[in-house]
Amino acid sequence: MLRDGVSSMILSLAKIKHHPHMVQEYRVTADLPDPAAAGFLDFALAGPALFCGAVTNRGGGLFLVEGKYTAQVKLACSRCLAAFTLPVSGEIKAVYGPSAADDAEGELDYRELSGDEIALGGMILDEISFSLPMQPLCNEECRGLCPFCGIDLNSGNCDCAGEQIDPRWEKLTEFRPAGK
Ligand SMILES: [Zn+2]
Ligand SMILES: [Zn+2]
Repeated sequence: MLRDGVSSMILSLAKIKHHPHMVQEYRVTADLPDPAAAGFLDFALAGPALFCGAVTNRGGGLFLVEGKYTAQVKLACSRCLAAFTLPVSGEIKAVYGPSAADDAEGELDYRELSGDEIALGGMILDEISFSLPMQPLCNEECRGLCPFCGIDLNSGNCDCAGEQIDPRWEKLTEFRPAGK
């Protein structure tokens, strides 16, 4: 539907800017900023993201953004190191306004508005980063790499059997005292 409309994740406020209490709905498919350039080194993006939501003109130069995002991120499995794609989604709720205004919505994420547009990309990247698992797994059952020969145990077995740690006990190895 928005095939050739893929661009940066920008919401134009032109229609509601001068109309307090007016609400505009958005459904935008667009590329997010490069995570690495934003300081996120543990994930990459596998394609454009979708934002579906609304902006309400709250008056006084404040705009409430509420909605849902979905995206596909590329991660490295913490056990076998293979790259895999993980669908992510979440809610966004934030108020954009002039830098001096901190009179309202103290409980909400407050962001500075510049001009007639809200650039959502940075906020969505932040939300994605918070939502990612600490130890991403390509599959809950991932058998990881053999600690002795390095073979990917998902794709074959090796002759180090017997020395291998049963995956069910793997968690215990994380309780070794620090420094050992
Ligand atoms: Zn894996
Ligand atoms: Zn092995």
